[in-house]
Amino acid sequence: MDQRKLLLEIINRLSDVYRPREEEYIALYLLKQGVNDFEFLIGVILSQNTSDRNALEAYKRLKMYLGIITPDTILSLQSEKLEELIRVAGMAKRRVEAFKALAMWFKENEELVKRFRNMSPGDVREHLMSIYGIGSKTADVYILMRLGMPAFPIDTHIKRVLSRLGIFSCTSYECLSKSVIEALNNDVEMLKRLHILLIEHGRKVCKARAPQCDKCLIREYCNYYVQHKTFS
Ligand code: SF4
Repeated sequence: MDQRKLLLEIINRLSDVYRPREEEYIALYLLKQGVNDFEFLIGVILSQNTSDRNALEAYKRLKMYLGIITPDTILSLQSEKLEELIRVAGMAKRRVEAFKALAMWFKENEELVKRFRNMSPGDVREHLMSIYGIGSKTADVYILMRLGMPAFPIDTHIKRVLSRLGIFSCTSYECLSKSVIEALNNDVEMLKRLHILLIEHGRKVCKARAPQCDKCLIREYCNYYVQHKTFS
């Protein structure tokens, strides 16, 4: 089966069992709340290197305190107060530095942000990644989930599941992400679905230490499963 058909089959099978809830995915939660671009990126920065549950709790505390999250409200708060509000997400000092850098950047580049939707995903990515605290994954979550443009963010769950499945030969972030986008022909809806479903699958079945292959609906397409069966 070619890569596109394989990914579509995986999406179909996983869609039958998973019903991702907004409260478990910060990007879905933020979209449901109708937040602005700046607030969306603040939420995604909160989710770096922590669980979505912790990120959401930190976001809600910040939101409750500030009322509205804008570059001005972020810059008007003392760093210590911001750190206290988001401590539950961990790495508070570093995140607050990223918030402040993002706020300054947004104030200086208001017109550029308005033009994002008319740019290529690659150009948007380049602009975002020039900001302190924004890496490939954060930029790609924004491009795919917020702007609705082709991108494929890869977190630790997705990296693990894709590597076990063995659909692609490469392992680096950039190569895997590009390979998925190409295999799905830039289809944004499919990219979004696959992104969420693979995270769900990694959290619930294809766990890091002990993948539950006996329960896995996509095991017939999985290299790890085939090898494990052969050698056990
Ligand atoms: S068969 Fe096992 S290793 Fe492969 S995707 Fe399913 S749970 Fe993960």
